[in-house]
Amino acid sequence: MNENNQKLDFVRQIVADDCQSGKWDGRVVTRFPPEPNGYLHIGHAKSICLNFGIAKEFGGKCHLRFDDTNPEKEEQEYVDSIKEDVRWLGWDWGDNLFFASDYFQQMYDWAIDLIKKGKAYVCDLTGEEIRQTRGTPTQAGNDSPYRNRSVEENLDLFERMKNGEFPDGSKTLRAKIDMASPNFNLRDPIMYRIVHATHHRTGDKWCIYPMYDWAHGLEDSVEKITHSICTLEFENHRPLYDWFLDQLGIYHPQQIEFARLNLTYTVMSKRKLLKLVQEKYVSGWDDPRMPTISGMRRRGFSPEAIRNFCEKISVNKFNSTVDFALLQHCLREELNKSSARVMAVLNPVKVVIDNYPQDQVEYLDAINNPEDPAAGTRQIPFSREIYIERDDFMEDAPKKFFRLTPGREVRLRYAYFITCTSIVKDSAGNITEIHCTYDPATKGGDAPDGRKVKSTLHWVCAKNALDAEARMYDHLFTKENLDDVAEGKYFTEYLNPNSLTTLSNCKVEPYLKEAKVLSRWQFERMGYFCVDTDSKDGKLIFNRTATLRDEWAKIQQTGK
Ligand code: ATP
Ligand code: MG
Repeated sequence: MNENNQKLDFVRQIVADDCQSGKWDGRVVTRFPPEPNGYLHIGHAKSICLNFGIAKEFGGKCHLRFDDTNPEKEEQEYVDSIKEDVRWLGWDWGDNLFFASDYFQQMYDWAIDLIKKGKAYVCDLTGEEIRQTRGTPTQAGNDSPYRNRSVEENLDLFERMKNGEFPDGSKTLRAKIDMASPNFNLRDPIMYRIVHATHHRTGDKWCIYPMYDWAHGLEDSVEKITHSICTLEFENHRPLYDWFLDQLGIYHPQQIEFARLNLTYTVMSKRKLLKLVQEKYVSGWDDPRMPTISGMRRRGFSPEAIRNFCEKISVNKFNSTVDFALLQHCLREELNKSSARVMAVLNPVKVVIDNYPQDQVEYLDAINNPEDPAAGTRQIPFSREIYIERDDFMEDAPKKFFRLTPGREVRLRYAYFITCTSIVKDSAGNITEIHCTYDPATKGGDAPDGRKVKSTLHWVCAKNALDAEARMYDHLFTKENLDDVAEGKYFTEYLNPNSLTTLSNCKVEPYLKEAKVLSRWQFERMGYFCVDTDSKDGKLIFNRTATLRDEWAKIQQTGK
């Protein structure tokens, strides 16, 4: 049980048991090991919250380790963004920032150890030949013709590989395990390949680079990790992880696998996200439609909402796809508590209140956040001309339309009751002005005679309104599950052409003049919005973070 008396997930249970039994002398050291070849996404957030969360709950440490063993795809830009995102999510690695590339010499020395033990050899087969000789699930692979090179020859060739004597791809170092193993990963896996490429940290010092399976356990060992938590795809790599550490006889952490996060209506592979960026399907890694942490931040997600989501989905051993609506539900729950309410008209039409004094401006009290009394109140200006939402008026209204229509009285939020008396149209028949009268006795929004109105509209004072742009988002893809994209189709064929709609003629209340970039607001009746990073020089741009309607609550109620 945890502090909230909830059952521990299976990973935390293992850690708790180990602490109890004293397996690691009470130490808990986890790590989050991203490869700096892209920006972090919501799937990474699951792993981050798990690893940093465990360290925090069990009084241990979590290392941030860059798994930078692949110089061709890695860049400093990614290192910087990853650090920023982990910090923004609310986690702190303290002094424990590491780079796999710092261990290249140690890894090389350990490779020499294995060669000396007769457990590794230099192989001259090409990558393609190695693949072809690996066998099939039902058939053993073939031994490489170079498998029985002498230790001396292997040492000599490996050193010359390191010294740059051979071209890319001409040789590899392979572990000598078992070409007939039912586990493919044990069929003499590659430990090193030759890549003459400049590394973002080690420059041209190395031209041989370690493969993931060889490197990862060593990195964990050097850092004295206790629980090496990874995703399920690595379950059948665990025997190899264990084999390398056992052969070397070095410190040996425990690898534990959990199911990765998949979300509906989006992709999570960095390769696919990179394609969206490079081919300009989106504006960048931080496009608010992206499932990246930076995209979600720009969209208006709060770190709390993401952490709550990760807690809610928990961790288990079975791959599944989480409904995007659950993520939005966690977001709304948090934003409802934390974001201030303001009024903004996204698609405005002017209302003229004919019996309101020409030049008068009065200030009305409005509550900033009914969920949070400490947020206080503000004053909003009201005058003869205001804007309301075009959709809140209908000339020929059907029975069930309760908002403004000729002859109907409605409430203006925090202001007065108004009654529509007439409309003005342009030559094309578009409504340009709605004329109303107001009842001064209803100030604040209640009639002293107790009469009721059926709807309350939000509005903005025309004289003081600020111009703004609102970017309205929908799912990036039209397909719910992108993992089962039909053969011959490519995931980009399912991009949603309507994932972004820009409303450029919005009117917002003057209180938003000082709104900071990335600040989050609830526009009354219209949804949650966040000030975009493109907002500057008095030009206000908002991203719609989420609508107010909770799809997840609906799914829970109706069961579909
Ligand atoms: P990709 O396969 O898209 O390149 P990756 O898993 O290789 O992604 P890494 O940078 O290696 O990306 O990931 C760092 C850590 O984040 C790993 O420990 C990995 O297990 C974890 N991780 C990545 N994607 C997910 C996901 N969808 N759900 C949970 N954890 C994830
Ligand atoms: Mg990886």
